[in-house]
Amino acid sequence: MRVFSSLRVRIAFSYALLLAVVLVLMNTYFLTASRDMIFTSKHTLIRNQAAIMETALADFDDLSIDDVSQVMARLDVDESMRVVIMDDDGILLYDTTDSAGGSYYADFFQQNASRALGGYDVISLRFSEGVFYSSALLPVIRDGAVIGAVYVHEGDAQQGAILVGLQSTIKSISILVTALSVFIVALILWTVMRRISSILRAIKLVREGEYNYRISVGGNDELALLGEEFNSLTDRLRDTDEIRRRFVADASHELKTPLASIRLLSDSILNNDGMDPDTVREFVTDIGNESERLARTTEKLMTLTRLDNNIIAERASVDMREVATDTLHMLRPLAASRGLTIESALDGGCFVLATRDEVYMIILNLTENAIKYNTPGGSVCVKLTREAEHSILTVDDTGIGVPEADMPHIFDRFYRVDKARSREAGGSGLGLSLVRDAALGLGGSVTAENRRDGGMRFRVRLPLYIAPE
Ligand code: ADP
Repeated sequence: MRVFSSLRVRIAFSYALLLAVVLVLMNTYFLTASRDMIFTSKHTLIRNQAAIMETALADFDDLSIDDVSQVMARLDVDESMRVVIMDDDGILLYDTTDSAGGSYYADFFQQNASRALGGYDVISLRFSEGVFYSSALLPVIRDGAVIGAVYVHEGDAQQGAILVGLQSTIKSISILVTALSVFIVALILWTVMRRISSILRAIKLVREGEYNYRISVGGNDELALLGEEFNSLTDRLRDTDEIRRRFVADASHELKTPLASIRLLSDSILNNDGMDPDTVREFVTDIGNESERLARTTEKLMTLTRLDNNIIAERASVDMREVATDTLHMLRPLAASRGLTIESALDGGCFVLATRDEVYMIILNLTENAIKYNTPGGSVCVKLTREAEHSILTVDDTGIGVPEADMPHIFDRFYRVDKARSREAGGSGLGLSLVRDAALGLGGSVTAENRRDGGMRFRVRLPLYIAPE
């Protein structure tokens, strides 16, 4: 049964079955139908022949050898036929004594003579060894009484030869068709299977990690399409794999750096017995800061993973003004510690369909960046406005801005313009990518631009949520 699970065997087997059915039908039905057609015409022919003689003989009251001979001479019967005539007692009156019919004649005659004399027509047709034999035995009836019987027999080798010729022609055609079909099917199977095998090989290679492997199936058919689809799938796999590798490398780097600092600081404390308490305090504070950064990075990584996997708590209508007010309230001390002022203009009615955390994360990261990358004495301005169908959050600052060359990358994961400054400010390079993912996830968008009078402007557009009545 395993053999039949192969596509190649199944196709070949089905085709062979179909071919066999067609050939058998061609070799049997067609020939039988032709033979039956000839039989029908022979039946009419032999019966008519016998009927002509019967009509001629029915002119007499009694049949005598002389009368019969006269009639037969007048009728001028075809010499290839055997004609036998007998009277009502079964006594032979006339016989062409031709050998045609041979022993068959004797058998047939013996079996059927009495039936004919009883008033019945007996017709027999036979095809044997390339010859059509037809016999008719009819009673000669005068005024309702049987006065004898006439037997006509004919063996037609000519029509037989035509049928035999047809038979052998069909046989030759069958052999030719079979040979040609086997060749064509084998060729098609071979090419299709070769292409399928190349696709299978490619799948195996890509599964083993060879993302640069590309197949060229050739042609213009479904298999070629399959090959193209497979190639674009491999492209995507390669890209995803690349992103994953980079993410893992960046993430481990981000986690390793603070860990290395912690290790260095704690080793210094351990190996320096006579370290003065102020230095120890400073080192321990640094250790605390580094662990905090580690915790923040880990938290952001987890949020990113949650967003990637679409693990989102139930969304509901969230008032952005309320979240913004809370966030700004929380950040004011940080701004004040850096000599910055926070201004805000928050319109009401900015409801979005989200979780509170998503909105909070967007406002927090943008405002925190505006504070972190600002210059002393500067300001941060947070605005919330309503458009026809959107809620717009604008965060402006008077800080250092971002060089135009870096602008296209600032939303990438782990991307930092000034690494030293970012690390100093406790950044991980994940904040803006979180903002972008969250904004996109809410059906909105985020843009960044350098303001003409210095500093950055971030604009987030989120669709307004209108609660169903
Ligand atoms: P980070 O944790 O380093 O702040 P983000 O993803 O939040 O990471 O930001 C990516 C980079 O974009 C930052 O490292 C910083 O260089 C730049 N950036 C973000 N916001 C601002 C801003 N308001 N002003 C200037 N540069 C900014």
